[in-house]
Amino acid sequence: MTLSSTISVPFNDLSLQVTELRPEIDAAIARVLDRGHFILGPENEAFERAFADYLGVPVAVGVGNGTDALELALRALDIGAGDEVICPALTAAPTALAIIATSAWPVFADIHPVTFTLDPAKLEGCLSDKTRAIIPVHLYGLAADMPTILSFAEAHGLAVIEDVAQAHGAMIGERKTGTMARIACFSFYPTKNMGAYGDGGAVVTNDTDLGLRVRQLRDLGQIGRFQHALPGRNSRLDEMQAAILQVKLRHLEAHNALRRERAAWYAELLGDILDLQLPCVPQDWTHVYHLYVVRHPERDALRDHLRQREIGADVHYPKPLPQQPVFSECRVGKGGIPVAEKAVAEILSLPMYPQLTRQQVEFVADAVRNFS
Ligand SMILES: *Cc1c(COP(=O)(O)O)cnc(C)c1O
Repeated sequence: MTLSSTISVPFNDLSLQVTELRPEIDAAIARVLDRGHFILGPENEAFERAFADYLGVPVAVGVGNGTDALELALRALDIGAGDEVICPALTAAPTALAIIATSAWPVFADIHPVTFTLDPAKLEGCLSDKTRAIIPVHLYGLAADMPTILSFAEAHGLAVIEDVAQAHGAMIGERKTGTMARIACFSFYPTKNMGAYGDGGAVVTNDTDLGLRVRQLRDLGQIGRFQHALPGRNSRLDEMQAAILQVKLRHLEAHNALRRERAAWYAELLGDILDLQLPCVPQDWTHVYHLYVVRHPERDALRDHLRQREIGADVHYPKPLPQQPVFSECRVGKGGIPVAEKAVAEILSLPMYPQLTRQQVEFVADAVRNFS
């Protein structure tokens, strides 16, 4: 048996990251336990400050998770029953579930065939007199086409809420995702580029009034102690996660750089395969490779081929959202979503995380090359 045939390459392995950061994480957790303050204390404040400073925005508000972040941002903008919110047909379900949670309707726009993000050319066909907002998703770690989306939104008087759950640190030029629209939502689910060791999320905004509303909504709608003025939620970032996230934030840029290095290895080893489309990055955009998604006409067979070799390969996502039962009554834009429908049959996510070794990437690339 050769050495390489004994390698296995899991889709992800968070224990490697825990091992790497263990002393810092242990210290952060101990600090919280020793203080004995577990909800809305100094760790949350320190994290909110550090994250806002990292992004270069005035306000970050820690919340319970990324789905709540989106729901609270929509509520802060007074979006709810009777309203429609446009989002892409290809994204994680929470983007659209958060819209449903406010009693507004998601309207699904088709995607761009190369970047897989919301295609601004399809926005016009999604409009109605009920349209209030657009939620572009920076999918897989690549920014959506924000300049075009923002000018469309401005022309039609719509709010824009960035879904940055998959793109902490991604950029267009020198501009970070999460700072382009008035309000943006992050998830710190453990597998995201910056993940907690439990649930967590944040809403960031350059509008301090809007930030204050989110702050009130996440904590029972209180505008002062025991003064419940808004129909709020209980959705707070706990002190343990806030302490852990301060550690994770310090490593975010280095981890993103390692992801980019691994993406460059894949490109070097797989770039010449005709049937395989690799991730495409517009000039001057910074991709942070939350996922490394390739496209192949025989996707199912390729996925099975890789899995037989103990290589974790997965599909994000197997259906466009309008095909999920919960969204069956929702509208899609004029002309439907043919690009998303074709994409879901051909996309495949290869293993991608900062701790992936060169040997593992070579093993995956060899297996892809041997497929025919
Ligand atoms: C993960 C994710 C969310 C939701 O985040 P949670 O913290 O799991 O609630 C929202 N949108 C997208 C695109 C995501 O990938």
